Amino acid sequence: MTLPNTYADGNCPLARTLEVVGERWTLLIVRDAFYGVRRFGDFATQLGIPRAVLTGRLKTLVQEGVFTRDDDAAGGVEYRLTAKGIALWPAVHALMNWGESFYSPNGTKRLLRHDLDGGVLDHEGRCQDCGAAVPVPDIRIEPGPGFQSGGTELDPVSSAINTPRRLLEPIATTRTPAQARRRG
Ligand SMILES: [Zn+2]
Repeated sequence: MTLPNTYADGNCPLARTLEVVGERWTLLIVRDAFYGVRRFGDFATQLGIPRAVLTGRLKTLVQEGVFTRDDDAAGGVEYRLTAKGIALWPAVHALMNWGESFYSPNGTKRLLRHDLDGGVLDHEGRCQDCGAAVPVPDIRIEPGPGFQSGGTELDPVSSAINTPRRLLEPIATTRTPAQARRRG
């Protein structure tokens, strides 16, 4: 038996939202896009997600206007968050905060800072140094004190994500032309 893919409550905006981002993996794909992942193969590598599932999730996100799908200069395809997609940031941030509050016994795993002055963001996304409500492109994410590295050799995408970086800044991975064709 397969579950229905719509929720019955037409008057609940949360139910409507979950029809778009409530499937398994979808919010992690969105999170990776905030981290700067843009290519199919990089999402697949970073998430360890079956390619057929990733294809389906990306298709839905493009159909719903959360991502754009465009050819890049190297002849591949890039998926990028739209303004509608970036508008999911406060929800992603709130869910991250919830996880940090209840499931990070050794301290914050992912620290968010205002990149301009290094101030740590509070749970509402304000810089604790200058008080600004920090726009998404000015947020720097970095491993916090509770971050545990796996100790194994990481793929280039995971390494980039685990290095302090601004949100939305594209992760540069090198590809052979054959990979570009296959991943496109
Ligand atoms: Zn600041």
